[in-house]
Amino acid sequence: MKKTYFTVGPSQLYPTVPQHTMDALGRDVFSTSHTGAFFVKTYKSLSDNLRQLFNIPSTHHIFFTGSSTESMHSIIASTVQTKSVHLITGGFSKKFHKVAIDLHKQPITIDLPWDNETDFSNLNMPKDAELLCVTENDTSIGMQLPLKSLKDVKKKNPSILIAVDIVSSIPFVAIDYSFVDMAFFSVHKGLGLPAGLGILIANDASIDRAKSLARKGISIGGHHSLVALADKEASYKTPETPNVFNIFLLERVTCDLLATGLEITRAETIVKAQLIYDYFDGHLRYKPLMRGMYRSQTTLVISAKDKADSIAAALAEKGYFISKGYRPYEKDHIRIANFPAHTKEDVIGLLKAMDTVL
Ligand SMILES: *Cc1c(COP(=O)(O)O)cnc(C)c1O
Repeated sequence: MKKTYFTVGPSQLYPTVPQHTMDALGRDVFSTSHTGAFFVKTYKSLSDNLRQLFNIPSTHHIFFTGSSTESMHSIIASTVQTKSVHLITGGFSKKFHKVAIDLHKQPITIDLPWDNETDFSNLNMPKDAELLCVTENDTSIGMQLPLKSLKDVKKKNPSILIAVDIVSSIPFVAIDYSFVDMAFFSVHKGLGLPAGLGILIANDASIDRAKSLARKGISIGGHHSLVALADKEASYKTPETPNVFNIFLLERVTCDLLATGLEITRAETIVKAQLIYDYFDGHLRYKPLMRGMYRSQTTLVISAKDKADSIAAALAEKGYFISKGYRPYEKDHIRIANFPAHTKEDVIGLLKAMDTVL
């Protein structure tokens, strides 16, 4: 039976990954030194591809971490002395907030309503806020924020750094790096790769902040502080032995994405999301959790009225794997990923299976 993973991460493999894996074996990538010429070339090529795909300017550096949770840790440790501000959308913004608490900072939270459009320019930023943390696509409840008005926050509070979690919306999301200082993602969601690699993007202002905290005698973290990462990145090296295999795969998959063209991938994402939302908007019992403009295009959450377990189990028998709700909504929601590895035909097949199950 064909199996299709609509789980929100790890998820369906990007279709070229098996071929790139064989290629990696053939080229002895698993045994290759992370300080040698092959790695340097791969790191540089991957950086170039990411810059081209996502319009990342030369003011911003591209680092490797082990996961996005680790990237949150590096960001808080390296750029916050006391106060980070967290826009609370759902489980993953809470996770970012908890990292700040665990690091003994004094973070504050601002709750975002699910139903009304938030104009970030009216956000009440405390004067002493050092970092604003935003989860662009909160995978827990399928809430995707429009970020345009964040620009005004930056204008009004030029000393605030802005960090954006784009873990489950990459490669769909387009970030304007003129007002985003840091962004991060993992590769096991929309990029269709195995877990175990995070990408952390940070600009010179963030690294300068880390240096000035260090000069004050504040701990900015160890081998994955922004300063340690930037030191090594200057020559396309890393502070530790990184996930060379996954870095190789990501370099290859970013070539594939460039060849397809991100505009096409994005347009397909919108079409597929619409199919799923239309289906559930028309369903009498199970409706999309989000209404209106906050609906995620990449991780769709449906209200399952206590039936998440049985729906997921019945779909699995037909070869379709979906995610249950994020705690504490395990039983009440189902979550469906809509990533580039999912074709329109896959989505139509899922909805057909859904129809017999519901
Ligand atoms: C999955 C996820 C994370 C955590 O990523 P890891 O690589 O598992 O640490 C963070 N934020 C969002 C929005 C996610 O979906």
